[in-house]
Amino acid sequence: MAQTLLIIYLLFFALRFLFHWILSVLNMNSALKQKDRVPDFAAPWIDEDRYSRARAYTKRKEEFGLVSFAVRSAVTLIILLSGFPGTLDLFITGLFSSPLVQGVAFIFLFSLITDLAGLPFEGYSQFVIEEEFGFNKMTGKLWLTDKIKENLLSLVIGFPLLALLFFFMDRTGELWWVYGWAFLSAFQLLMFLIYPSLIAPLFNKFTPLEEGELKDSLNELAEKCGFKTKGIFLMDGSRRSAHSNAYFTGLGRTKRIVLFDTLVESLSTAELTAVLAHEIGHYKKKHILKKLASSFLSSLALFYLLSLALNWTPLFQAFSFNAPSYHGVLIILMYFSSPFTYFLSPLLSRISRKQEYEADAYARNAMGSSKELREGLMKLNKENLSNLTPHPLYSSFYYSHPPLRERWDALAALDEE
Ligand code: ZN
Repeated sequence: MAQTLLIIYLLFFALRFLFHWILSVLNMNSALKQKDRVPDFAAPWIDEDRYSRARAYTKRKEEFGLVSFAVRSAVTLIILLSGFPGTLDLFITGLFSSPLVQGVAFIFLFSLITDLAGLPFEGYSQFVIEEEFGFNKMTGKLWLTDKIKENLLSLVIGFPLLALLFFFMDRTGELWWVYGWAFLSAFQLLMFLIYPSLIAPLFNKFTPLEEGELKDSLNELAEKCGFKTKGIFLMDGSRRSAHSNAYFTGLGRTKRIVLFDTLVESLSTAELTAVLAHEIGHYKKKHILKKLASSFLSSLALFYLLSLALNWTPLFQAFSFNAPSYHGVLIILMYFSSPFTYFLSPLLSRISRKQEYEADAYARNAMGSSKELREGLMKLNKENLSNLTPHPLYSSFYYSHPPLRERWDALAALDEE
């Protein structure tokens, strides 16, 4: 049985590898075969030089993505086929006697090793590729401080969280998965509420808008839409990257809309107002609530699966564990499940793109025309050297936002109605 499970896993692993590889190559070719002619709809804003830089950026990122994907896949295979989980298990059992401490230690050591394997790629992407295209604004020191903070945070938050989860698995009987799920969901909700005001400020500065033309224009729109403007913040994104963005996060009184300083620098007041309208659209259409609700539901299903898998010895044998354990089942779920969940990405991306269209339509109505939003998106695309011609299969698989071309057409169509 364990043998069969391993074969099924390896089959999905190979299939995902092939799929990922084909999609990347298609996407690269789709960017390259366009020659230098800028697509008509973008031609008034983007010149040939910038267009060819955007394509070079796409190619560079895809090529590097393939190399790092191949290495990460190889690391996973080595971990699995060398029997590493079982060896680590033995090592940790020798160090600690309490099963709870053993479980927490296993997960931390395992994550540490797999995270370390990813660090060189992260560094290369930030300090070589992003640097080459003028996006990197990070110093080595800031990068290191970020890493230290991230790891301290995951220790401080992760340790008690794991310990409590193991407690539920161990002590609450048959229905542990319901209690465990309720606990984790409550925790997730709490994190979601405190993240914008307690955690994000550990990494970035958030300042309320300064008095002036921009603030007046944003206030006027927010008032019209019934959104409390206390929640609009500027973020010093330029400390790390020249990429620009805006996002909406939080719930209830902690909700906020965040505009990167890099965005404010490159867009006009009218365009920024349209971007704000789009973010308010996410709020009005309750996208955050929907995302949270679906994440709670899917984690309930996952917990149920966990409860079924917990005592199923062949599963542990298939992934090189010596015996069933709480930490083993969590590692299988967190680290080894991606070849299966990968095939859900088209569905998740599609839901996300649908919400983007809804927020766009809301913004179009709030502004009375789609012109400002379209032009704002065009500038964003231009500044970020985004791919203007992604392969349709690639974008439908991975894109959380519709490709500019499709967004542009959908918005323009709303004006004609
Ligand atoms: Zn959006």
